[in-house]
Amino acid sequence: MASMMQPQIILLKEGTDTSQGKAQLISNINACMAVADVVRTTLGPRGMDKLIHDDKGNTTISNDGATIMKLLDVVHPAAKILVDIAKSQDSEVGDGTTTVVLLAGELLREAKPFIEDGVHPQNLIRSYRTASNMAIEKVKELAVSIEGKSLDEKRRLLAKCAATTLSSKLIGGEKDFFATMVVDAVIAIGTDDRLNMIGIKKVPGGTMRDSFLVNGVAFKKTFSYAGFEQQPKKFINPKILLLNIELELKSEKENAEIRLSDPLQYQSIVDAEWNIIYDKLDKCVKSGAKIVLSRLAIGDLATQYFADRDIFCAGRVAEDDLHRVAAATGATVQTSVNNVIDEVLGSCEIFEEKQVGNERFNIFSGCPSGQTATIVLRGGADQFIEEAERSLHDAIMIVRRAMKNSTVVAGGGAIDMEISRYLWQHARNIAGKSQLFINSFAKALEVIPRQLCDNAGFDATDVLNKLRQKHALPSGEGALYGVDINTGGICDSFANFVWEPALINAINAATEAACLILSVDETVKNPKSESAQGEAAGMGRGRGAGRGRGMRRR
Ligand code: ADP
Ligand code: MG
Repeated sequence: MASMMQPQIILLKEGTDTSQGKAQLISNINACMAVADVVRTTLGPRGMDKLIHDDKGNTTISNDGATIMKLLDVVHPAAKILVDIAKSQDSEVGDGTTTVVLLAGELLREAKPFIEDGVHPQNLIRSYRTASNMAIEKVKELAVSIEGKSLDEKRRLLAKCAATTLSSKLIGGEKDFFATMVVDAVIAIGTDDRLNMIGIKKVPGGTMRDSFLVNGVAFKKTFSYAGFEQQPKKFINPKILLLNIELELKSEKENAEIRLSDPLQYQSIVDAEWNIIYDKLDKCVKSGAKIVLSRLAIGDLATQYFADRDIFCAGRVAEDDLHRVAAATGATVQTSVNNVIDEVLGSCEIFEEKQVGNERFNIFSGCPSGQTATIVLRGGADQFIEEAERSLHDAIMIVRRAMKNSTVVAGGGAIDMEISRYLWQHARNIAGKSQLFINSFAKALEVIPRQLCDNAGFDATDVLNKLRQKHALPSGEGALYGVDINTGGICDSFANFVWEPALINAINAATEAACLILSVDETVKNPKSESAQGEAAGMGRGRGAGRGRGMRRR
């Protein structure tokens, strides 16, 4: 391209687009700031929700940072990093996804003028890392332990944490109702790490308050055949048999061939088939089980057979439901009905089939091994219940986290302000440029209380000044003050039970993301990969346009 005279060294494919240096960095920063701006307004109890609808016509209403980021379909390679940290925060902590994106965006916003002025990114990165480590030390120091409290006391404290998480969601109006439910569910599954032991079932209709918690397993009645109506619908202390086999007369395989020399033999062939299934059914009955569940179909013959013997059966039970039943009742899933011994049968105190809204539910409660809980969610629109489920997921994660780590900090921006103050103070003693960078980090942390105010319609400057003054008190008595979301002033967030256990991971992730973006000074776009895979898919991190294409919004 450049010179036609000499043979040139071809390193990259023709049409490869490279951008580098300062311009590249600035454009990456701009892209990330644009992403942060999208979720900005969803932060906090007065945050707004986003309605996202995709080209398939699905609509989602959500307040959850990770959900929004996932659905946005960001194509800018640098901005995708923010999507990734939101996702990782979601799986690691469960809450604080908006916070982490905002923090990363703000760290970059603070870095931008320095980069423009020609500061080498590595200097910034080094200072950001130092500041982040100090911040995390400080959070650990400020965290309050809930270890060693009685179970009742703990329950109350955990409910506060759950309520704080829920207060920013659509179901915030009923946060106390749901907070208790979440805490009960989490305590029910104990220290078990299997999150899927909490099932959430959604049944449209009714009001939120009709939602309830089953201390055990519940699932929607499966498809059933005639004869089902005659089966009993309630048992006290039943034995439960779980199967992974079909209890159904099966039609022949298409090319099955049987040769008969005598027409009378035909009957024996038919009989043989019936005998096989009757034999299976008989073994189920003999096992003493009163409830038979199978992951595969239970046909009409079996249904009638069980009905005649006062046994309840359900076929085509979803796999995760079956596993939950197994865990809760102590049963083991059988792949054969030969030799069903007592040990593989489960039991529960009460089994019942109940009407919930328009659906019938099979409910197993009072299970001996505990360790499972099911929340049945009710509510109006589908989108609403979906969002309620996501919100409960956040709350469940937070409660589990608080239970595991046993520490909480003051929310409402209090912890952010306190760390910010601490870093400012520390920076004063540093000679050299890094003083400025650490100050920037400190300033970036203030984005949380500022955004909480903005979203609630308060005068952010005013509130922030009050907070700064309070936190600067030499006695340290103002350390727990955060934004008062009800009055627009400031209050002791800790005393008002605005608690959260989420911040350490958020600071870590945001710093890492910011440093990662600051350390990229060149992206190379490979033209082939883009045209081949479309722009949404395939583009790995670190390559791509880099010309400030921004993000695609729909
Ligand atoms: P994230 O996705 O980051 O969890 P949220 O929308 O849930 O975002 O907002 C969380 C922020 O809202 C936290 O900083 C938390 O301290 C704050 N917050 C929650 N409830 C209250 C409240 N009642 N008063 C003040 N701040 C609150
Ligand atoms: Mg939250």
